[in-house]
Amino acid sequence: MPKQSFSALLLVLSFASCALAQESATPVTAVRAGKLIDVDAGRVLTNQTILIRGGKVDSLGDADKVAVPPGAKVIDLSKMTVLPGLIDCHTHLADGSQEANIDPVYQLKRRAAEVALESVPNARVFLESGFTTVRDVGVYRALNDVALRDAINAGYFPGPRMFVAGAYITISGGAGAMTGYAPDITLPWDLRYGEANSPWEVRQKVRQLVHDGADHIKVLSTGAVLTHGSNPNSTEFTPEELEASVDEAKHFGLRVEAHAHAAEGIKNAIRAGVASVEHATLIDEEGIALAKQHGTYLDMDIYDEECIQEVGTKEKRPADFLEHDRNLGEQHRQNFTKALRAGVKLSFGTDAGVCPYDRSARQFAFMVKYGMTPMQAIQSATHNAADLVGKSDLLGSIKPGKYADIVAVKSDPLADIHILEHVSFVMKEGTVYKNVQ
Ligand SMILES: [Zn+2]
Repeated sequence: MPKQSFSALLLVLSFASCALAQESATPVTAVRAGKLIDVDAGRVLTNQTILIRGGKVDSLGDADKVAVPPGAKVIDLSKMTVLPGLIDCHTHLADGSQEANIDPVYQLKRRAAEVALESVPNARVFLESGFTTVRDVGVYRALNDVALRDAINAGYFPGPRMFVAGAYITISGGAGAMTGYAPDITLPWDLRYGEANSPWEVRQKVRQLVHDGADHIKVLSTGAVLTHGSNPNSTEFTPEELEASVDEAKHFGLRVEAHAHAAEGIKNAIRAGVASVEHATLIDEEGIALAKQHGTYLDMDIYDEECIQEVGTKEKRPADFLEHDRNLGEQHRQNFTKALRAGVKLSFGTDAGVCPYDRSARQFAFMVKYGMTPMQAIQSATHNAADLVGKSDLLGSIKPGKYADIVAVKSDPLADIHILEHVSFVMKEGTVYKNVQ
C-alpha cells in the first residue's frame, strides 16, 4: 500500500472510532410506555421501551427485549398512554396577547416588539398543552412569527417547533389585510407587507417571503370572519393569482395553504394546487370531490365557532365578527362530516389564537362528535399533520430516526378523547417540558 493511502486509511479509521466514541458518549434516555399509540398503523402497543439519543428516537420495542444502556436516564410512563407530540396545522402564536385576536385594530396600539414579546407566553402554553409542532399560518406584523420561531430554536424560551408563513398574502382590503382604520392613515411596512393585486405581485411577495425566512406560504382566497368589512362568502384572489402563488412557491420547494370559506374560493384554491384549504367552511359536493381527486388536505377548525361566540360575547368581540361566525358554524361541522365520509384527507388545525392558547385540544372531541374515530382524530394531529407539513421523515409518529416528540396522558384517549385536553407529560426533541404524573 502506498504510504499516502495508508495514512488516509488511518485518518478514516480514527474518524470512525471518534464518531463511535461520540455516539456512546451521547446521553441516552429510556422512556417506559404502558401503552403506546402507533399512529402509522392505527394500533396500540403495550409495555414498550423507547430509547432516545441526541433528541431523536434511537430504537423502540417490547420492554423485555430492549436493553437499556447502563447510565441511561429512565422516565417511567408505564401507567400512562404515550403518543407522538401533537401538531396543530393552523395557529397564530405571534400576534401578541389574546386581546389581539378579539379585534385586529389592537395591532395599531402596539409596537412590533411589544407584540413579539407578548407572544412568548403563547408559545410556552401551547407546548405545555401537548403541541410540540405548529404550522403557524399568518401574522399581522409581518415576520414576527419568523422571530418567534428563531428565538424558540435558539432556546431563549420554550415553545413548539414552528413552521411559519411570515405574513398573509392578501388582496388590498382583503381577509388578511389590516382593515378598520381611516383611509388617510398610512400603515407601517409590516402591516401591509403581504398585499398583492396581480399574479406578478403575488410572485413578488412569495419571493420576498422566501428570502425573509418563511417555511410555507399563506394566501387568502375568500373573505374572512374576523376581519372588518370582510364577507366570508366573497371570492378574493383570482385563479391566476392563486396559481401564481403555488407555482412560485414550488420554485423554492415551499407549499401553499389557502384560507377559504366560500365554495368557489375553495375550488379555485384546490384547482390551483394548494397543499391545504384552511377552514373549508362552505365546501360543496364538487369541492369535496376535487379535494379527494387532488389529494388536498382540508384543515377544518370546527371547534372555534363555539369559542368565538362564547369568548366573543364575554369579551366584547365586534358585532360584525359574531354575525359572520354565527351563520357558518353548523354548516361547517356538517361539511366536515361529509368530507370525512367521502375520504378526503383531513388535518388538525384549530386557528389557535381565536380561542385561548390552552384550548386547542378541545377540538379532538368535536372531531369525534362529528364522525371521526378517536384514532382518526389523533392521526389528524400526528401522522396526517406531519404529511401536510412535508416532514413525515422527522415528525408525526414515534419511530427510529424521528424527533423524540412525545406526550403522555393518564388514561386511554381512544376510550375518552377528552383526556387529550389534560396532557400530563410533554417532551420535545428529547427534552422534558412538563411532567405532572
Ligand atoms: Zn387563521
